[in-house]
Amino acid sequence: MGDNDKYYYSEILPFMKERYGKKLGKIGLTLHTPCPNEPPCIYCNKNSFIPQTIKGAVTIREQMEQGLPYVKRKYPTDEFIAYFQDNTSTYGDIDYLERSFREALSYPEIRILALSTRPDSIYQELLEMLKRTAAGRDVWLELGLQSVHDSTLKAIGRGHDYACFLDAYRVIRENTDFLAGVHLIIGLPDETDEMIYETFREINRIKPDYIKIHHLQVIKGTELERIYNSGEYEPLTMQKYIELFSKAVSFLDKDIVIHRNLSRAHADQLIAPKWGVIAEEFKEKVFDYMNSEGICQGSSL
Ligand code: SF4
Repeated sequence: MGDNDKYYYSEILPFMKERYGKKLGKIGLTLHTPCPNEPPCIYCNKNSFIPQTIKGAVTIREQMEQGLPYVKRKYPTDEFIAYFQDNTSTYGDIDYLERSFREALSYPEIRILALSTRPDSIYQELLEMLKRTAAGRDVWLELGLQSVHDSTLKAIGRGHDYACFLDAYRVIRENTDFLAGVHLIIGLPDETDEMIYETFREINRIKPDYIKIHHLQVIKGTELERIYNSGEYEPLTMQKYIELFSKAVSFLDKDIVIHRNLSRAHADQLIAPKWGVIAEEFKEKVFDYMNSEGICQGSSL
């Protein structure tokens, strides 16, 4: 069994405690704006991202009034992250974006503005607006990358290449002190194990503050569902994902925090794989595997 006091990988909770002195709760929000990537990434059903806690609420104020009491009941803390998580949270009319972010930040409990977005929706004027709007509060800016391999990015229909990501990342680093996050997916079609490890080794060169690691899920209404139904895509088993996750993390610098270890599609939208585990149980299984293999984050560097 994995020893919970032993170091396996750099988790988000200790990072939050060190930086903010506590665990912060998270309220998921949506701008109700489209993603510019058409047709969408093969695994994407844009509706699957809308946080359950704010379903039915339209304006940011309505979402906050609905979502904040919910997260306050769930997390024993007094400060929260306003997380714009669906579609492309920096795409669209900049005045609308500014009004929306200001509305969320008008709640004194909000300590962090977190935005999930695409590299081709990052530009200088946006970063200046975010700095103004955050007014000293932390901004966490997360870029979807998924893989550093252009052949994969093309195959999954990302609509940008790795060079585009590097440009956006450089602009963020050169012009802001925002925390930078990167989203990665394990289990993309036609990626070998070695390609996955290459992505993680390359991430060390980029040095984001944190990464979110997802396993590829087949969601209803996506191109991947069609490919899966035709028998051309086989989802990972949980054991294989644990092995890939653990070995990939062993190639990752300890300074890079792992903010997520698993995808979490809504049950009514998920087709495969159906593992029936929650993040905490999954983490235990990873710890067990890492313990049995004698590896931890950075141990293969
Ligand atoms: S960039 Fe994100 S929201 Fe847009 S199509 Fe891809 S996964 Fe979906």
